[in-house]
Amino acid sequence: MDRTLAADLARLPELLEATRRAAAVALETLDARPVVVPAAAAAPHDPEPLPEHGTGAAAALAAFRHRWEPRLSASAGPRYLGFVTGGATPAALAGDWLTAAHDQNSNSALDGAGQDLERETVGWLRELFHLGPEHAGTFVSGATMSNTTGLAIAREWLGERLGVSPSEDGAAALGPVRVLSGAPHSSIAKALSVLGLGRNSLVPVPTLPGREAVDPAALDRALADTPGPAVVVANAGTVNTVDFDDLRAVAALKERHDFWLHTDAAFGAFAALSPDHAPLTAGLDASDSLCVDLHKWLNVPYDSAVQFTRRQDLQARVFQNSAAYLGPLGDHPDLVHLTPENSHRLRALAAWFTLRAYGRQGHREIVERDIACARALGAELSGDPAFRLLAPVRLNVVCFTLAEDPTAARLAALREAAAAEVFVTPTVLAGTPALRAAFSNWRTTQADVRRAAEALRMAAREIA
Ligand SMILES: *Cc1c(COP(=O)(O)O)cnc(C)c1O
Repeated sequence: MDRTLAADLARLPELLEATRRAAAVALETLDARPVVVPAAAAAPHDPEPLPEHGTGAAAALAAFRHRWEPRLSASAGPRYLGFVTGGATPAALAGDWLTAAHDQNSNSALDGAGQDLERETVGWLRELFHLGPEHAGTFVSGATMSNTTGLAIAREWLGERLGVSPSEDGAAALGPVRVLSGAPHSSIAKALSVLGLGRNSLVPVPTLPGREAVDPAALDRALADTPGPAVVVANAGTVNTVDFDDLRAVAALKERHDFWLHTDAAFGAFAALSPDHAPLTAGLDASDSLCVDLHKWLNVPYDSAVQFTRRQDLQARVFQNSAAYLGPLGDHPDLVHLTPENSHRLRALAAWFTLRAYGRQGHREIVERDIACARALGAELSGDPAFRLLAPVRLNVVCFTLAEDPTAARLAALREAAAAEVFVTPTVLAGTPALRAAFSNWRTTQADVRRAAEALRMAAREIA
């Protein structure tokens, strides 16, 4: 064994302890550090050459803390409101550490209970989102992968309807495909590109006036205009205004039209945890496939999401990985036959830990507190003449802009001026440049809302 490596092995408990201390410091200082480091500090450094001889884990830890850690964002913290970003609950973090420590490849039943742990966790998630046993679930690395997997199953379903097999003969066997959606997330187009259906297969369907929710009557007409079976992507929680398609109305169209219903509920599904907001997700269980992100509002570390489907048989047809040394498909296919990847970390463990630790009520409290924080920031900004809300706060996102001269450049200056205290991300809503503040971190409190509002106000004055 290499001498440095052998020395690290000899003092492994000490190294883990030093790493634990570094992690604790990083978390203890989350509140005091800038949310996003000033642009100058984030400028690219010259890369260091590959070390010929290493100096061991302690030296690597010191180098990381010196060179890289100061330039990372405080995205695990309470005022990082960009994109839709979750933190990591204490239990989720513990689960993630142990995932790495055990370093399981939980893709087959040949060597341990990793898959069973994943199935137990999927069962808990199903209950959380009010889904029934007809929805099988699989862990993937994020909502983009979940959407891609769901749409791959949709592709195979189209083949079943048309009497061809895209997984055997290629997507071209389907001929032209139409994927209808109101306000789909950008990852849907990416998935269609990956799947050989093409971004141009996406047919935009009009949304309701002033909304991002699909107009069910327009969807009805678009389906009537589609020759043959189609795919509908319903959206349960759009990123700009957290609008929800009327999932029951969309599903009811199946009485008249032949389509696969995929629902992107990446973070919107968590509305099901709050009794006051659960009606937004009514009809979620009618989906043939659906996407839920876990590294957002479940607050587990990256990378984690789940893909649910009613047709695991079609999923296995797409993703089966037949080899002499792997198990047969059977009724409960090994995970190696269900997702784009083969080897697969014990990704479910962080979700298992946080659900085991805090339960449905603990996670309900996180969701409801984040919604209350979004409402409070919405109220602060709508009461300030410098700002204008572009949509009501339906759930956990505040979509707002400057009341005067809301150009992309001015909004960028505003974001930059506030970035040490609060991080928000840019968007464009119906042609108007805007900003989004998304609440999905378990640490965020009303005190953070006041600090964020104050920072935005001061930044607006600064750039005036
Ligand atoms: C975040 C998000 C995605 C993509 O999720 P990743 O985890 O970044 O892959 C897809 N759809 C919606 C609605 C999202 O909010």
